[in-house]
Amino acid sequence: MSRVYNFCSGPAALPEAVLKKAQAEMLDWHGAGVSVMEMSHRSDEFMSILASAKARLKRLLDINDDYEVLFVQGGASTLFAQIPANLANGYDSACFLDTGAWSTKAIKEAKRYTNVKVVGSSKEQNYTTVPEFSTLELDESAAYLHICPNETIGGVEFADLPETTLPIVADLSSTILSRKIDVSKYGVIYAGAQKNVGPAGVVICIIRKDLLARSSDELPSIWNFANLAANDSMINTPPTFAIYLADLVFEWLEAQGGVEAIEAVNIRKAKALYDFIDSSDFYSNPVEPAYRSRMNVPFILADESLESLFLQESEAAGLRTLAGHRSVGGMRASIYNAMPMEGIEALIDFMRGFEQRHG
Ligand code: PLP
Repeated sequence: MSRVYNFCSGPAALPEAVLKKAQAEMLDWHGAGVSVMEMSHRSDEFMSILASAKARLKRLLDINDDYEVLFVQGGASTLFAQIPANLANGYDSACFLDTGAWSTKAIKEAKRYTNVKVVGSSKEQNYTTVPEFSTLELDESAAYLHICPNETIGGVEFADLPETTLPIVADLSSTILSRKIDVSKYGVIYAGAQKNVGPAGVVICIIRKDLLARSSDELPSIWNFANLAANDSMINTPPTFAIYLADLVFEWLEAQGGVEAIEAVNIRKAKALYDFIDSSDFYSNPVEPAYRSRMNVPFILADESLESLFLQESEAAGLRTLAGHRSVGGMRASIYNAMPMEGIEALIDFMRGFEQRHG
């Protein structure tokens, strides 16, 4: 079986070069005689991997010393709760922008820890757009403003940030490292790894150091951001293999020319796919063009009864996991950093052929 183009939203395709390197190092990492999975997380070898991953991420995102880079466990969903548990301490509320399914989940979990103020929502537009920032009802005395700049399910992305004095907490799970960002504009950035960073099992959390003072001693130690920072993310055994793979992905990204270079490729990939969808009456994407995601491209077929045939034929053509999220149906192509332009071309060719055969 040869490798196929994998459009899964996550766990997602990893760069082939990364998988090959991991394979070559699997039995004997750099002469250690063991794989990374088998070595102590306190060993000099693993500590060097952790330090390398951190240093590469800092270079790639130009993260300055005002920020701490943490490797956290439990998935981004854990941070939906962990963030309010740490950051809302001493505050009455936290503000949330509601732009889709993942914002909604973050809101649900935060409600267990603080009063949630939804400052704007595109729910009435079926999450096909982003509320005008000038209309947001921000409470500048809240603990922070939470946003999800790329809604993986709805395929909605925004790059600008609302004007506020509040620390901005951003779930960048499905967009981190795909485009240039100014980290200094954020209080916290967090991202589950299994899209643009590596395998599932680790969450990147970039937190402004002054916010660590909000973490209360009453929190479970493993949840306490200040404690995690003080212990270099090593309160307990970290997900060593996931961190190692993340380091290899960061190394690969540096070799591609970094975030700016991959962003240019991502723009070309997304444009080609959206242009094709827009040129056809057979396929459509419901998102307002200014907010279309570069990473997750949902689309529907004019004739819904052809969906299962589309999925069957696309799988057979080596185009894997094009089904939309179970909550919304339709199709979705997730085209993260590791998806080459050739994968987009193969998808467009297939879609064009399918339309000719069945349209
Ligand atoms: N946030 C976003 C934007 C996501 O896309 C996802 C998963 O797809 C999550 C959070 C949840 O991540 P996890 O499964 O790591 O908890």
